[in-house]
Amino acid sequence: MNFTTWGGTHSAAPARRAEPADEAELCEIVARAAAEGLRVRAVGAGHSFTDAAVTDGVLLSLDHLSGIESVERLDDGGALVTVGAGTRLHDLNRLLAIWGLAMRNLGDIDRQSVAGAISTGTHGTGARLGGLATQVRALRVVRADGSVVAVSGAEAPGTAGRDLFEVARLGLGSVGILSAVTLEVVPSYLLRSVETVRPWDEVVDGFDELFDAHHRTDAYWFPGTDRMLTWTHDLVDDDASARYRASRRGVAGLVRRGAGAARSFVDEEVLANGALGAVMQVATRAPRAVPRLNRLCASVLSDRTHVAPSDAVMVTRRRVRFVEMEYALPRAALRDVLGELAAWLRSTGEPVAFPVEVRCAAADDVWLSTARGRDSAYVAVHQYHRMPYRDYFDAAEQIFVAAGGRPHWGKLHSRTAADLAEHYPLQDVARVRAAADPTGVFTNDYVDRVLGTPQA
Ligand SMILES: Cc1cc2nc3c(=O)[nH]c(=O)nc-3n(C[C@H](O)[C@H](O)[C@H](O)COP(=O)(O)OP(=O)(O)OC[C@H]3O[C@@H](n4cnc5c(N)ncnc54)[C@H](O)[C@@H]3O)c2cc1C
Repeated sequence: MNFTTWGGTHSAAPARRAEPADEAELCEIVARAAAEGLRVRAVGAGHSFTDAAVTDGVLLSLDHLSGIESVERLDDGGALVTVGAGTRLHDLNRLLAIWGLAMRNLGDIDRQSVAGAISTGTHGTGARLGGLATQVRALRVVRADGSVVAVSGAEAPGTAGRDLFEVARLGLGSVGILSAVTLEVVPSYLLRSVETVRPWDEVVDGFDELFDAHHRTDAYWFPGTDRMLTWTHDLVDDDASARYRASRRGVAGLVRRGAGAARSFVDEEVLANGALGAVMQVATRAPRAVPRLNRLCASVLSDRTHVAPSDAVMVTRRRVRFVEMEYALPRAALRDVLGELAAWLRSTGEPVAFPVEVRCAAADDVWLSTARGRDSAYVAVHQYHRMPYRDYFDAAEQIFVAAGGRPHWGKLHSRTAADLAEHYPLQDVARVRAAADPTGVFTNDYVDRVLGTPQA
């Protein structure tokens, strides 16, 4: 009955597990658990590094609540697509392609469930693009009494329904179990991916221009080296994307081919392949060799360009396990934060064999979004799961916090509700939680730590 997160950071033994076949059974299970005084949590793919999905009560898997329920076409060629909350992003991408549709933005991987991804504020990159929760238009939420409430972003701000929508679309499952999610998606499109290796100073000094010049921007830095790999994605002209959409079967086929055949260098060589795994094993046995290994990794980086369907370009595979902390920062703080991080690594000689990743997002208005109210840069630090990480992450966190950083809800951090109150409307969140879940059925230790106690 044990549950362990992908990164091996947390495990738990719930009182029982359940895998409802449909929404009606989900409602029965939740109502029964609440009547017995048990707490309830859903787990998606277990890809959070925090204990967000851990419970001592009933742990639900919504793997059977998967797939597309309905598609409502919009005038701009996009659509409102309602999917089961347990749908994995890789299944969603495949199904959307059949309809000639695609997600506007995605994170680095596609293993997560839709509900898990939105509930922790999962984001991709792009100065004009928001995280996945900004693509949510409506939700169905199962409450502690087993009833289902439908909430939508179309309800007027300040109404009870709209407030519930805000905490349900990004709120760590703290107001109920999501059973269905309506996403706004766009016509499927091609992206041109360009990988370029450049001197650290040039990239770090020019991040603002880089972010603004490209549809999506990602950058990787191997600590101890003086080069960065930038990875930019831009929309391919409309004609080519229209030809690509022309045949639904063709589209689905292209997506499958694209996913296998057109992988980027970042994906194949830097993050996913066996070579990185082998490097990590050497690093674990001989930490002092890490700077040399990083220089070796950085030296094989090279410029590369390719065009592929959007999801094949955006998504990478992560077969080498790691642990991660990521903070959202005001964009203006990025340069100094990276400089301080590099200085700390230089002065301590800490063996860090995994690259630091830099991304960005547009300001949004989602209550608990890490990009709420400000254009943001993200800095993520990683360490191989078998190597010590605490000193590194503690030092990075101090730098991030001093710069006004906000931690990713699904990645390691030590912040509490008291620390986070300056960034989020936590009193409003507590009010909504108290109304939606007066007996605390949808709490756990993590939710209590980062969102505080619900209050009327
Ligand atoms: C290899 C890797 C790569 C990653 N890349 C990125 C990235 O590029 N960008 C990024 O922002 N993040 C990234 N993450 C973090 C990841 O996207 C989030 O932690 C996400 O929450 C994981 O989704 P999941 O389905 O595994 O959710 P889980 O970890 O299983 O659950 C997350 C939270 O959602 C809640 N939840 C799940 N289902 C429901 C439901 N039906 N109703 C209510 N609540 C629910 C859980 O209770 C929990 O609180 C990555 C993580 C890993 C391990």
